[in-house]
Amino acid sequence: MKQTDKRIVHVKKGLELECKGWEQEAAMRMLMNNLDPEVAEKPEELVVYGGIGKAARNWDCYDGIVHALKELEKDETLLVQSGKPVGVFRTHERAPRVILANSVLVPKWADWENFQKLEAQGLTMYGQMTAGSWIYIGTQGILQGTYETFLALANKHFDGSLKGTLTVTAGLGGMGGAQPLAVTMNEGVVLAIEIDPERIEKRIHTKYCDKMTDSLDEAIEWAVEAKKNKVALSIGLVGNAAEILPELIARKVPIDIVTDQTSAHDPLNGYVPEGFSLERASEMRANDPQTYMQKAKQSMAKHVEAMLQLQAGGAIVFDYGNNIRQVAKDEGVENAFDFPGFVPAYIRPLFCEGKGPFRWAALSGDPEDIYVTDALIKELFPDNEGLHRWIDMAQERVAFQGLPSRICWLGYGERVKMGLAINDLVRKGKLKAPIVIGRDHLDCGSVASPNRETEGMKDGSDAIGDWAVLNALLNTAAGASWVSFHHGGGVGMGYSLHSGMVVVADGSDNAAQKLASVLTTDPGMGIIRHADAGYELAQEMAEKHGVVIPMNRL
Ligand code: NAD
Repeated sequence: MKQTDKRIVHVKKGLELECKGWEQEAAMRMLMNNLDPEVAEKPEELVVYGGIGKAARNWDCYDGIVHALKELEKDETLLVQSGKPVGVFRTHERAPRVILANSVLVPKWADWENFQKLEAQGLTMYGQMTAGSWIYIGTQGILQGTYETFLALANKHFDGSLKGTLTVTAGLGGMGGAQPLAVTMNEGVVLAIEIDPERIEKRIHTKYCDKMTDSLDEAIEWAVEAKKNKVALSIGLVGNAAEILPELIARKVPIDIVTDQTSAHDPLNGYVPEGFSLERASEMRANDPQTYMQKAKQSMAKHVEAMLQLQAGGAIVFDYGNNIRQVAKDEGVENAFDFPGFVPAYIRPLFCEGKGPFRWAALSGDPEDIYVTDALIKELFPDNEGLHRWIDMAQERVAFQGLPSRICWLGYGERVKMGLAINDLVRKGKLKAPIVIGRDHLDCGSVASPNRETEGMKDGSDAIGDWAVLNALLNTAAGASWVSFHHGGGVGMGYSLHSGMVVVADGSDNAAQKLASVLTTDPGMGIIRHADAGYELAQEMAEKHGVVIPMNRL
């Protein structure tokens, strides 16, 4: 097969093994799952998600990986360098079956320009976070992350529910499109401003958004009525955020929460300036990009000023990781950073407890296996209301893509409990086939990303990359089934280092030992990283769970 050939891969399901063990088979199926057309954005180009995030460097390398996994013995380890299989060594059964490194560049070279040059020479690939580490599960991931953020906000400010509150946001694109459903899952009302009506229609079609209008009067009427009656409702309003927000302020609409997910990180392609139709925007992008970007940035400044004004008026305002504050600041809005990013505002306390986006997929391909695990998790954590609400809603509203899967946020102690219980169900034959257990790289102890996950760390350690490396090394020592170390995921080249792990629950004793170790070391890294940075909650968690921190024992 030549590199230029384009192919479509469908994930293999069922009980028949093509590899010499379930760990190898799981790695092969999860690679295929990442590229399944139900899951991947551009499968024929091996692109899974997030711009150019790929699962293998090219189709020859894909074939090489699949072949190597089929030959791999259960005491061997395959090495994958940015999507290319480069070696197999005898290690031992408890060691990982695969170790991967993606897009890692020496710091002085760590920018897009150098990356693109090296990629053009066929020497590397962009692995994003879960694309090159074979644990992407489709849109359920972003929906759950957004749900969890709004739940954390509800817990902090509104007694655990958004009932009777009105959230105003903008941008209903690939990721931002999860916002309306995430808010209504938390029982709130949301008014989402989106310039492109087709984007709203798509969200209505997939049931992520309830209603749509291009009339501001109608949108306000619906929103205020629903807020008053404490009914969950999501409204997509066709319009420009930079124009609508000041109008909402002028009309004194009772807004409780404000955020934004326009693609402000990219002033040319991601943000439409005020007063522009979509046609005019696309014309000017092509003909006069410099003027376009200038206008987009000015509108973003106005947008942020309105957000600041709403904050001054008592609303809860946060940045959702799109860099809009930085653009506004560069445009002269001196106090743009007066409202916080979502990690320091809501997620960091969860990270301090070792919590993060834990996920699992059923290798049988049978949705029933996931429903069995849904019942299991509710049984194991009977008092966790937010978790129960999420599982019920996910069953009702999330369509499986590729291998059936589930995601939820679990912390230190909880992950290992769930992992071992799943392994027991596999052993007893209550699940049809083994389960793959992993997580996003946006997790408590696995990422260094100063503009996002490690923004504003208490001790100033935002840019310290050691933690992400230690995480990968520790999970390797603990015996994960595959471990990966990446650069540049989420926020781009030069801005992040992060690592991933996956463990396979195949019902064996070996799997039980691996799960017991890895599902302890991995969230444990979150606790020690945040304890080291001076977070009291993480110190308390370490104390409570007996996580050893040598400097505390002097
Ligand atoms: P996208 O490009 O698919 O969607 C952006 C949407 O904003 C588009 O639908 C566009 O029409 C709309 N838009 C642009 N200008 C507008 C304006 N002035 N008024 C109203 N609507 C406007 O992007 P996406 O994948 O949805 O991601 C959105 C942003 O959120 C990105 O910057 C992304 O990096 C960020 N993000 C961050 C996190 C995180 O930190 N965890 C998660 C998801 C997304």
